Amino acid sequence: MENPSSLEIHVFWDRFLKIIEERVNQQSFNTWFKPLGILELNDDNIVISVPQTYHQSWLEEHYLPLLKSASQRLLDRKVNIDFVISDNNDIPVADDITMSSFDNVDSVPSSHSMLFFEQQVINPRFTFDSFVVGNSNQFAHAAAKAVADSPGTTAFNPLVIYGGVGLGKTHILQAIANHCLTTCKNGIDRKRIIFVSSEKFTMDFIMSIQNNIAPQYSNYYRSTDLLLVDDIQFFNNKERTQEEFFHTFNALHQSGKQIVLTMDRPPSQLKGLADRLINRFQWGLVTDIQPPDFETRVAILKKKAESDGVYLENAITDYIAENITSNIRELEGALIRLLAYSSLRGQDISLDMATRVLGETFTKKPSIITIEFIQKLVAEYFSLTNDQIMSNSRRKEVAVARHIAIHLSKKLTDSSLKTIGLHFGGRDHSTVIHSLRTVENKYMADSSLAKHIQVLTDKAKSS
Ligand code: ADP
Ligand code: MG
Repeated sequence: MENPSSLEIHVFWDRFLKIIEERVNQQSFNTWFKPLGILELNDDNIVISVPQTYHQSWLEEHYLPLLKSASQRLLDRKVNIDFVISDNNDIPVADDITMSSFDNVDSVPSSHSMLFFEQQVINPRFTFDSFVVGNSNQFAHAAAKAVADSPGTTAFNPLVIYGGVGLGKTHILQAIANHCLTTCKNGIDRKRIIFVSSEKFTMDFIMSIQNNIAPQYSNYYRSTDLLLVDDIQFFNNKERTQEEFFHTFNALHQSGKQIVLTMDRPPSQLKGLADRLINRFQWGLVTDIQPPDFETRVAILKKKAESDGVYLENAITDYIAENITSNIRELEGALIRLLAYSSLRGQDISLDMATRVLGETFTKKPSIITIEFIQKLVAEYFSLTNDQIMSNSRRKEVAVARHIAIHLSKKLTDSSLKTIGLHFGGRDHSTVIHSLRTVENKYMADSSLAKHIQVLTDKAKSS
């Protein structure tokens, strides 16, 4: 085994203490194990720091078999336990340790494999309380709530929630986990609630094969009470993982365990997923989350600001909600930028500040293309005047420009043939149709004219 990093040692130690905590009573744990620290972890031994000689003797006398079996369980091999008297038990570790730091299979010594099938971090902020319900998500919210209240006993098994990026899928999924972790109804064991992204499920699977622990892997995922898998679409084309997931799904479903899945589109539209899986996703309830409407966006902003202890005037929340329409993560991002700016400057948030800080990041709304605009664009492009384009002139270059302008007006605006005709010097709709046919049948077949039309189309759209 290569030398494990301090982070790996820390994670090992964390798990190690957890196993022990499960086996001894709380008081013994606090007295004998809490004061311990880990100094070294290598092939043959674990070096543990203890505060005093007496402490060491007590551990050796009463707890050595427990310490050994806990380490064996984690490392999958026998090691010796050595003690060193020390009053400094701190080992340097990174501040925020999440198991996702360990998702990189290559960098991990195989003997640490047992550490892997561990909970992904569940964000305590993602609760039903902090979730704003609106028209766009009320059905998904109600179904999630019902499932969280009685996992495995509703008809919603699996519960499938689909929707675009940043609309709250992960939030709802973790809200179910958080709710079940606190209530633990229906015999749910809090230790057997698994929230996992489909990527981690895949990584764990690959790692289990590499390390010959596939049975442990299957066992881990198939013995949960509640399995929450995020972003199922990333299973695409991963056939063996899908197969493994298929069996996991069956095992859980048959024993009445709750499954909740999220994905970025309806199951029937998933690409690269086996039909039998897609079929199963439709056994329970499939529900979507839509982009939030204006009122919901404002409500979300107000709620987030409030939880940061900030009051925002309506004009400010309206301004942000009008400009960010389709992604709640971006909505939050804008608010965070504003809060950061205000606290750095020590100034209160005002509408003026909001427009200054956020204005340029708001992408321009697509401008509406008008017939007048197209006429001007085409006239300039062919070095003609607006009047010429609208005239009855039969000069070839004028007629060509006019036909193209009419074609673009039809293609890029919602105007009727009648309206277009009126804009081009009061032509009737059959003349307009003649122009459209000419462009489609003749001009498009002429590669240089087709190119002009393409260039003009791009110009109109990007203006
Ligand atoms: P997704 O998984 O669909 O991409 P997330 O669940 O990660 O989206 O949501 C993005 C951000 O928006 C998160 O910070 C989440 O808390 C927030 N969010 C989404 N929907 C809501 C909502 N209805 N109420 C409050 N916050 C929300
Ligand atoms: Mg997500």
